[in-house]
Amino acid sequence: MMRLLRRLGRADTFRNISQPCSLRQPCASLSVVHPAVPYDVVIVGGGLVGNAAAVALALEESLENKRILLLDQSEKEPSFEPEKGFNLRVINLTVGNQEFLDRIGVWDRIKTMRHHSYNKIYNWESSSNHTISFTAEPMGYIVENNVIETGLLEIAKNLHNVDIRRGEAVNEIKLPLDQSKEQVVVGLESGDVVETSLLIGADGANSYVRKVLDSPVLSWMYDQQGIVCTLRSPCLDKDDVAYQRFLSSGPIALLPLGGGLFSLVWSCRSNIATELMNLSEEEFVARANNALQKPAVVPAPVAAMETVSDYLGFSEHPPQTPLITAIEGARAKFPLGFSNSARYIGPRTVLLGDAAHRVHPLAGQGANIGFRGVQQLVKYISENPHRQLGDFRVLNSFESSLQRQVTPMLCFIDGMQKLYSTTLDPFVAARSYGLGVINQLPFLKNSILDRARS
Ligand SMILES: Cc1cc2nc3c(=O)[nH]c(=O)nc-3n(C[C@H](O)[C@H](O)[C@H](O)COP(=O)(O)OP(=O)(O)OC[C@H]3O[C@@H](n4cnc5c(N)ncnc54)[C@H](O)[C@@H]3O)c2cc1C
Repeated sequence: MMRLLRRLGRADTFRNISQPCSLRQPCASLSVVHPAVPYDVVIVGGGLVGNAAAVALALEESLENKRILLLDQSEKEPSFEPEKGFNLRVINLTVGNQEFLDRIGVWDRIKTMRHHSYNKIYNWESSSNHTISFTAEPMGYIVENNVIETGLLEIAKNLHNVDIRRGEAVNEIKLPLDQSKEQVVVGLESGDVVETSLLIGADGANSYVRKVLDSPVLSWMYDQQGIVCTLRSPCLDKDDVAYQRFLSSGPIALLPLGGGLFSLVWSCRSNIATELMNLSEEEFVARANNALQKPAVVPAPVAAMETVSDYLGFSEHPPQTPLITAIEGARAKFPLGFSNSARYIGPRTVLLGDAAHRVHPLAGQGANIGFRGVQQLVKYISENPHRQLGDFRVLNSFESSLQRQVTPMLCFIDGMQKLYSTTLDPFVAARSYGLGVINQLPFLKNSILDRARS
């Protein structure tokens, strides 16, 4: 951008916003630049959430004649290559978000590629035999990230009001001082400049857009890594069941992919993750089977409680997990963290997905919460067709509504992570008993189920 401004002889009037402006103290010294390309919406980040935002906004009636630009710094387009086996990154897609993807025409594309539905999930732990299971038809869908992204991109490419630029990183942003008169100005690494009525930061957990907004962020790392890989089992009768066992070092989950294959998401302390990644395939498979099937080590007070619950017919017992016999392909690990931005909006700007909030994968909700944010934004824009794009009142209502939904969920997921990380007897007893009770209370169980599937 500085190159462009120098060409225009105005470099001194534009501060490099790599040193982000504060939301509360906007960059008063900046003068307005007239960039070459005007857009109505610019979306930074073409991951799951940015792609979904591009399609959902482009299909919104009131935006039919608006111009949307979708940018991603990565040159490589997502693609579906079935001959290479399953992608390591999969998500548990909720029923509510499957319906959303269906409404925007993406589910039909996903169906031509690959997905797998499941009807039951077991949750249990290694310090108690109390188990909780949820059943619904379907409980959710296991879909590879690249399948969803490919489907979204295929649709986006066919929409007349969406331009896509890949291999294009945003590295400068000028937020408007006076929102009623000014646009957001966005500088790209190529030197091009665009301006927009609404900027969407869907640029992931290390969001540059969020840094420019200068919003306080509550964040921490869990000292856990999520190991992911595809596992094979000869048991073909467990294809519609997902499993998650909480170990003191973190949860291990098997998500069914069909045909005896399971996606493993094994969250464990970083030192254990390094050790597991260095094991031979046979050793790794043995450790995974052990983590899933080893009998619980139950502290005495919890064992006493379990005896009472068994007597009262309260208990559900741990499931027999499918025996794993091989790894298909590679293993990878990802650092796990929590973050929540105090603001999801700024002047003519919105944060979506991991840019706004990041959660532990134990509830399979990260991308799902991001998709809900996309739906909320489209809803508020469609309900206010008389207001300008980027209007503060609309964005403010969107933010309040989304934060009311997201904050309790983030607290719940983080609370679960912490509750299951301890082996102290009173906590083990409390969670074990709590689980047993919830499992016997249909109204409570159904309300948890409804939220998990929404
Ligand atoms: C092990 C694991 C398991 C998970 N399981 C689930 C699950 O079962 N269910 C679920 O809902 N969620 C799950 N998640 C979370 C989910 O993967 C994330 O929430 C989701 O991928 C976030 O999507 P996003 O589009 O917000 O961000 P990202 O996927 O991070 O995409 C951000 C995009 O922005 C681009 N970008 C970044 N900076 C710039 C820039 N300056 N200019 C241009 N482009 C830029 C990047 O190239 C990238 O493509 C899991 C996460 C992990 C780690």
